[in-house]
Amino acid sequence: MDEDLEQTVERYATLLTSNDAERFEKGCALIDDACYQSEEVGNQKAESSWAPKSRIEVQVGNQKQERFARIAQELAVYKGSAVLLRLWEGALTERSRLEQFGDASTAVRFFQTSCIAVACLSTSKVVVERCLKELGAAGQKRIAREVYETFYARASRAAREMDPEKLIAYGRLMVATPLKCVANFALASKAFREAMREYSAERSLFEQFGHFLSAEFRSKLLSGSATSVPLFLSDLAMTLAFSTDSQMWALDKGLLKLMAAVYEASASATQRGRNGTPVFRCNASLLHLAQSEPTVEKLRALNALEVFRPYKRNIVITEPNGIDLWEYIEAKLLRRTVIMRELSSGRQFTLSAQMSGSGTPVVCSWKHCTAGPEPVEGTRFEKCGHCKVARYCSKEHQILHWRTHKIHCKASLAQDKASS
Ligand SMILES: [Zn+2]
Ligand SMILES: [Zn+2]
Repeated sequence: MDEDLEQTVERYATLLTSNDAERFEKGCALIDDACYQSEEVGNQKAESSWAPKSRIEVQVGNQKQERFARIAQELAVYKGSAVLLRLWEGALTERSRLEQFGDASTAVRFFQTSCIAVACLSTSKVVVERCLKELGAAGQKRIAREVYETFYARASRAAREMDPEKLIAYGRLMVATPLKCVANFALASKAFREAMREYSAERSLFEQFGHFLSAEFRSKLLSGSATSVPLFLSDLAMTLAFSTDSQMWALDKGLLKLMAAVYEASASATQRGRNGTPVFRCNASLLHLAQSEPTVEKLRALNALEVFRPYKRNIVITEPNGIDLWEYIEAKLLRRTVIMRELSSGRQFTLSAQMSGSGTPVVCSWKHCTAGPEPVEGTRFEKCGHCKVARYCSKEHQILHWRTHKIHCKASLAQDKASS
């Protein structure tokens, strides 16, 4: 039915490294399609992308998601540095493109398409790792900070300065997409979270991101973007709540206020606790934070119950595991004895939330593998010893993949040598 995975990877690489603007754009559009086709159920692709998925679409999308994960991983091996560098320059340095293309609108277009492709590819942790490595192992932190500042600053500036009409037209590209990049990188990279913490020394998370969630601002966006923005920020909140390296810091830096703003922005949404919605992600974050003593202590100190009481209606969930989350949190924080009917179901809930996050799973690179995504906890997949990018669930699959992978793998090593 469709072309072989290897061919796809090679075709994408050719398009994405092309000097011809049209071909490059085509490459970006194909990546976008490969990443989000499962949500192309409605007719307005541009705006329906990244809208919350219903459960059935997630299931339908799994196979496709694995395929995309494989394409992204192999693309990162094969011509990874050239592709990523190109996208990178496009997404981060619009000015230099102005010289190349001569006119501003082509340069802006180049930025937008690059940014879309980065937003898709950065859902893969493997790609992000490759990317930060590519941009300099030694300067990884500096690069991570640059990435954070650029995407964040871009979204903020667009939100602040664009006139309402332009914002309606470009909201997805100028605000939602850069925010998605921030959320993706935070999920995928410890170095990025570190950079984020440094950058945020002066300003709280709420000061940085709260304004994107205000009703006033969201009313300026088309409905698709107005839904995506809280979704991406709930991704970011969930990542911070689940990362042991950042959760305490995030709590001190206004994570709860940011989550409250997400609840507020989703207050009218009917899909209360449904899998994959911003509310679901905030609920999962709360549940996770309520499960270890130091974070519970912090929640008490921050008066979490008062912060979230206005959104109690959103937090009381009966699906999918029959736990009343509000009751549980309240009891935990007030040191009442808690009986969460089955704690294991809570654990399942947080795990499934992690899985349903916006990240593309890490998968075994062998295209016929049925092992599914790398487990969130436990044994990790092995990396290819040469490129350190391809992943394998077993030796057998590594051997099977080597037949085709060796071409890509060697190309990658040659590139690395050339660029160093
Ligand atoms: Zn390899
Ligand atoms: Zn496998």
